[in-house]
Amino acid sequence: MKTKNILLTIGGILLADYLLAKINTKPQIIIKKNLPFNYNAQTIPPFGIYIKESEKDNQKLLEHELVHWKQYNKSGAILFYLKYLAQKSLYGYDKMPLEIEARKIVGESNYCQNNYTDCVKKGDSITVSNSQFREF
Ligand SMILES: [Zn+2]
Repeated sequence: MKTKNILLTIGGILLADYLLAKINTKPQIIIKKNLPFNYNAQTIPPFGIYIKESEKDNQKLLEHELVHWKQYNKSGAILFYLKYLAQKSLYGYDKMPLEIEARKIVGESNYCQNNYTDCVKKGDSITVSNSQFREF
């Protein structure tokens, strides 16, 4: 009985999260002076897209983040985070499919799709330039 209630609760949470993702299609854009790890932007469903103040008018960067928002709309926040973290630990940030999809859609070169950290640091990315990108 206890196990059944726990499973029903988990199922309810997953369903609510999935249904919220279907209607939460217009993310709030939140501008911050700085983001952790020298990120330029971060998509944090279901809350919104965080953009570093210096990049607030960067349309390519917003376009990249909106791809992540659509990825969230497809799966819900819980599955999006699980998938994102699993891919990041399996492939690393530069080679993970969820990131490569976003880089491809905004029109990054093949090299930058697969070596994004290097491209952003060197200023070869069409999305953003940041010499301290992903430095902790
Ligand atoms: Zn991304």
